[in-house]
Formats: sequence, structure tokens, C-alpha cells
Amino acid sequence: MPELILLSFDRNEIIALNRPSRNGDAEANRFFETLWEPYREKALACFLCDAVVEFPVFSEIVGDLADANKAVGVPLCHQCGTLPKMVKWSRTMKMMRAMHKAKTGKNSVPNVRHIPRRR
Ligand SMILES: [Zn+2]
Repeated sequence: MPELILLSFDRNEIIALNRPSRNGDAEANRFFETLWEPYREKALACFLCDAVVEFPVFSEIVGDLADANKAVGVPLCHQCGTLPKMVKWSRTMKMMRAMHKAKTGKNSVPNVRHIPRRR
């Protein structure tokens, strides 16, 4: 069964990288492309549909509901990753809210890895 892994970031740092990445900045893009490299040996679960995620992984970054200074990166399969931006974002937020609410349900608690600040 694929495993759901979420990445935790410093919110300001990830916002600072996300913008140039959308504008095609090579270094910022490389950062996002290599985010999931450490998990290549694993079967990563798509955050939205539970399908096994294929490499290169699509990432969606959303604010952490539990901590305003953090942001969470979720892996998406190819199909979910190519959804329209707003659909993708609102589905991701809906899942995050449900997860936040159901924090006590053991099965719904994903494995969150903190990404240390670069520099
Ligand atoms: Zn998916």
C-alpha cells in the first residue's frame, strides 16, 4: 500500500521559492523537483486520490492549519497534479481541513517530515 508522506516547511521560505518557481526560475524549480527524491524507493500515495505517485512528483504547497509559520507540501499523482490550479488547491485544502479535524483517527495521520531551512 502506498504511504502518505507530507513535507513541512518554513512558510516564508517556501513562499519565497514558490513564486520564482512558477515564473520558471531554474534553481527554485530544481528545489521542487528534487523534494521527493529521498522517497524514490517508496510507494508514495497521492494526497488527493491515494494512487501511487510517479516521478517526477507534482507538489502542492498549502499553509499548515496547525502552525501559521509552517507550510505543508503534499505529493500528487500525474492526474491530480495536472488539474486546474484552483481545483487542485481547493481539494488539497479540503483534505487538510478534514485531516486536521480527524487528527485523533490513527489512519488519517500522515507521516510529516520537516525540511530544515537551507543556507
Ligand atoms: Zn491523484
